[in-house]
Amino acid sequence: MNSNLLNIPFVDLSWQNEPLLADIDGAIRDVIRRGDFILGQEVRKFEKDFAQACGVRYGIGVGSGTDAIALGLRACGIMEGDEVIVPANTFIATVIGVILAGAKPVLVDCDINTALIDLESAQKAITEKTKAIVPVHLYGQMVSPQQIEDFAQSNHLIIFEDSAQAHLAQREGKTAGSIGLASGFSFYPSKNLGAFGNGGMVVTDNEEIAQKVRSLRNYGAPKKYYHTDFGTNSRLNTVQGAVLNIKLPHLKKWNDWRNRAGAKYDQLLQPLAEYGITPIKNVVQGGHIYHLYVINIETSPQPIYDRNIIQNKLDEIGIQTGIHYPIPCHLQPAYEYLGYQKGDFPNAEILCDNILSLPMYPGIDDENLELVVKHLTDIVRNSD
Ligand SMILES: *Cc1c(COP(=O)(O)O)cnc(C)c1O
Repeated sequence: MNSNLLNIPFVDLSWQNEPLLADIDGAIRDVIRRGDFILGQEVRKFEKDFAQACGVRYGIGVGSGTDAIALGLRACGIMEGDEVIVPANTFIATVIGVILAGAKPVLVDCDINTALIDLESAQKAITEKTKAIVPVHLYGQMVSPQQIEDFAQSNHLIIFEDSAQAHLAQREGKTAGSIGLASGFSFYPSKNLGAFGNGGMVVTDNEEIAQKVRSLRNYGAPKKYYHTDFGTNSRLNTVQGAVLNIKLPHLKKWNDWRNRAGAKYDQLLQPLAEYGITPIKNVVQGGHIYHLYVINIETSPQPIYDRNIIQNKLDEIGIQTGIHYPIPCHLQPAYEYLGYQKGDFPNAEILCDNILSLPMYPGIDDENLELVVKHLTDIVRNSD
């Protein structure tokens, strides 16, 4: 009834896709004419260009971000019996990737302000079986390269970055994908660089690891019909490669738009601090690429405003929001067998209860950012 008041979507891909339609159309026709649908020339070009953009030598296109983590970890030598440290507040695919690699995910808490992995919590989780740590560059903000490198070095761990939300994100002069032994990316349509379907990539500066992923994604065959690994079928398809080649030159500009929108939100939201509403902290300024713009609606020590009520009221007005993520990985029913309980990772649990993701996409204009904050402000003022 009042849903026509506003229409501010959570994500709007048409702004970026429409101007590129003619080029994309032409590139897809070329793929159809050549017929190189699997691992064709557009995939090779995109692998080369995307790896270069990340500052490493090799990119290996795979079927999804989940597979990028699973195959990438295997190529780094992770295997059954190994423990891999993962933050409890991430998209579940990080955990799935570790399990698909055959290893045991060991969950740890996050920092309450940045929502990024907490290395003190990680330190407590180290055992003699710990082989790797997976920093997740959550919401488009990188984990500190210096801190994660120091941590990995002193504990003799491999770093495998989950960069699925961090295409070209930067921190301390480094780019996501260039700090780990290898890194996994996703090109799911709503990521900062999105295909028109599923897609992913492992990037690495290590030639052996690159070759291993190339084999693993292609039935474990370094040469046709010669299988040296237990592999799978997980390849970035050529049509997606063609789409991604057209989009890649625009990525920096799109990320910059998100970063400016994030800074604008930060500024507009300042007066809401007195109501306990604060953005997840940006500690990297320009290097944050805001895959998501997330606020924390504090409910402790006293529940003042209920996140779900606020979300429903915004929805009624016509402002779409999201929750990333409502349940931490350690409390997901499928992973009960890992033996975690409520209370194990208090910061992750608090965030999952209190966070709300506001509309964010390249092309969102100041007027919409102002409307979102205005209506959010009205809702909290009126619930006094
Ligand atoms: C999207 C995402 C993935 C998984 O990528 P898919 O392409 O959907 O398999 C993994 N980790 C994080 C943090 C993600 O956001």
